[in-house]
Amino acid sequence: MLNREEAIKIFSDSGALLEGHFLLTSGRHSNQYMQCAQVLKYPAYTEKLARHLAESFQNDEVELVVGPAMGGIIVAYEVARQLAVPGIFTERQDSQMVLRRGFTIKPGQRVVVVEDVVTTGGSVREVIDVVKACEGIVVGVGVLVDRSGGKVDFGVKMTSVLTMNIESWESFGCPLCKEGKLPVIKPGSRTA
Ligand code: ZN
Repeated sequence: MLNREEAIKIFSDSGALLEGHFLLTSGRHSNQYMQCAQVLKYPAYTEKLARHLAESFQNDEVELVVGPAMGGIIVAYEVARQLAVPGIFTERQDSQMVLRRGFTIKPGQRVVVVEDVVTTGGSVREVIDVVKACEGIVVGVGVLVDRSGGKVDFGVKMTSVLTMNIESWESFGCPLCKEGKLPVIKPGSRTA
């Protein structure tokens, strides 16, 4: 299992966790920004992060790993590979979370639901509903980053590699704006 320091180092070294002065899509400002896709582009890092999740479910007789597209696809694949079980993903069709491409979950099948980042946990809950609708058994939830600061509750065993509480402020209350040293940037833009 990775400790907090090791996990933060992986996210920082890969460029997934940025420190600075950021304009979030919500319009709020923050001094940290997390883009999980940046760490998942490195197979070696992905393997280490997924191992943390795979190890925590290794005694739960897991038969299938499911994650929501897009963020959950690579995580589901790698956790499944390490547990030596199949890994599949759900996706949205007309805003509804569904299984497509011939993917199925059998009644009684023991399933772990994985995701890259959870904030409110909406997508994970929708995947849990898909598993339950197929009469599968949700053994637990594994996420790389829990941005709820540990507050999110799915009613099952939950493991995260990193629990974070990324602070954000309305622009008028932003301490970094007040300091005026660092210009605010939009993560992912060319100027970032
Ligand atoms: Zn600001």
